[in-house]
Amino acid sequence: ETAVNHNFIRPIIQEDLDAGRVSGKVVTRFPPEPNGYLHIGHAKSICLNFGLAEEFGGECNLRFDDTNPAKEEQEFIEAIKEDVQWLGFQWTGQERYASSYFEQFYDWAIHLIKQGKAYVCDLSPEQASEYRGWATKPGKESPFRDRTVDENLVLFEKMKQGEFDEGFCVLRAKIDMASPNMNMRDPILYRIRKKHHHQTGDKWCIYPSYDFAHGQGDAIEGVTHSICTLEFQDHRPLYEWFIDNLPVPSKPKQYEFGRLNINYTVTSKRNLKQLVDEQIVAGWNDPRMPTISGMRRRGYSAAALRAFCDGLAVAKTDGVVDIAQLEFEIRKDLNDNAARAMCVLNPLKVTITNAADTPEWLEVANHPQQEAMGNRSLPFTKDIFIDASDFTEDISLSRKKFKRLVIGDYVRLRGAYVIKADEVIKNDKGEVIEVIASLVPDTVGQNPPPEMKPRGVIHWVSATEGKEVELRLYERLFQTEAPGKVTGNYLDDINPDSLTVIKAIAEPAIVGCEPETAFQFEREGYFVSDRYDHSADSPVFNLTIGLKEDISK
Ligand code: ATP
Ligand code: MG
Ligand code: MG
Repeated sequence: ETAVNHNFIRPIIQEDLDAGRVSGKVVTRFPPEPNGYLHIGHAKSICLNFGLAEEFGGECNLRFDDTNPAKEEQEFIEAIKEDVQWLGFQWTGQERYASSYFEQFYDWAIHLIKQGKAYVCDLSPEQASEYRGWATKPGKESPFRDRTVDENLVLFEKMKQGEFDEGFCVLRAKIDMASPNMNMRDPILYRIRKKHHHQTGDKWCIYPSYDFAHGQGDAIEGVTHSICTLEFQDHRPLYEWFIDNLPVPSKPKQYEFGRLNINYTVTSKRNLKQLVDEQIVAGWNDPRMPTISGMRRRGYSAAALRAFCDGLAVAKTDGVVDIAQLEFEIRKDLNDNAARAMCVLNPLKVTITNAADTPEWLEVANHPQQEAMGNRSLPFTKDIFIDASDFTEDISLSRKKFKRLVIGDYVRLRGAYVIKADEVIKNDKGEVIEVIASLVPDTVGQNPPPEMKPRGVIHWVSATEGKEVELRLYERLFQTEAPGKVTGNYLDDINPDSLTVIKAIAEPAIVGCEPETAFQFEREGYFVSDRYDHSADSPVFNLTIGLKEDISK
């Protein structure tokens, strides 16, 4: 029933199919570089690529764009695979690696050399950049541009054999040093990098550039629609040049869409890596991170993330999406699916003088609407805890203003009795340390007489049967909408209070839950048992999100 989002790529694919331009299935791919964990922006790309393939009965590949061994690691490969699957997608066949095509790319480089379309260039990086010129100034041709085919073949072979040091020379395409598109000014095809590669080991010491690998990888895999972000728009002529000038097995086409940016956070792997490296967060999957694994640990469900991504327009401009839009989906999902439970964060003891001496086990629904979620047993005892903020001695507060427990007045305990606060016990400093109360008999699931009408409903936990739990209370990692906008350094906008750890008392039924179980702690917020640290013996819950949108911002 959700409206179909604006997506300019959908009609392009439909037209290609209608016009018979796609001979087999529609094939897309998601091509992460394994140099970090996936973030919310990647989630958009995943939902788009896998979603379109699904919609058109096609296939989507997972391809690791692993052409730069210096920054890549196996850990990231594993994390990326896990995140894609957790989001609910499965790639076609095995995962693929650009590195498994290195032999083919190398042969294609030789092909270009033999056609007189590539040459080995010995300019230093500084000289090369000077020769390239800039957008409004044509570049100068490299003095090495006219090397003969034979000379280039010999030099390229030497590059491959490791006879030159890193940076000594590169292989470049011979295109057009006067092109207004900088990417066409004899771009680099191969660099010397004497680095161990996580997939190919020490087999290679020359590595293809992104541009020389990406489109050809698409062509090898029979990708029909190669969807990437806008920064590659200017690379498209080069993408097409390679496809046109090489004997590739298929002719993929590239389409660019706007990157997803969200306010109050950063979505660049470089920045996220810095947060991890400088230990500003506890790791890539810290619940404050906008990474898929961080959001998962925070308690966001895959369904909610997909709903968010599917609701985003796929357009030809970058934009900043309000985080409230994401939070809306998270709350909607949890409101429907999280079991209700009670947990007292700031306990105040209440002794109910006329309660039974042994626990009374009450049957309480796990969800107010979803009957299928069943019931739980909730122990009601003589000593209970309520939240300190739910009690006041100030009898002048109106029922409308303070819908909680007031001395001499009535309140309902959620799922249990209506009680009345009779007196208080104070410490030396005059602070209330205990409330003495009495219950109104026969009020479980039934209204009291009209003169005992409760002010409101509050949550509570048995002091004797409740269990101590650790709560990790998270706030936004950044305290401003556009981190770094004012000072130029996004680290200046880190929220110093983004994590508070407290002890709280929870009803006993929940502590034995599996990790990653979502709850609504009534009147407090949505929480999830921590994926890694939670156990029945030492329960840990993360604050996923508050119950209502924070309108203070
Ligand atoms: P970053 O700048 O964060 O390092 P990247 O684009 O270099 O991101 P890749 O691993 O190359 O990261 O990305 C894999 C795919 O995800 C690419 O197709 C890329 O265009 C897409 N992608 C990355 N970031 C976003 C984003 N913010 N919004 C939409 N798609 C994105
Ligand atoms: Mg990239
Ligand atoms: Mg990058």
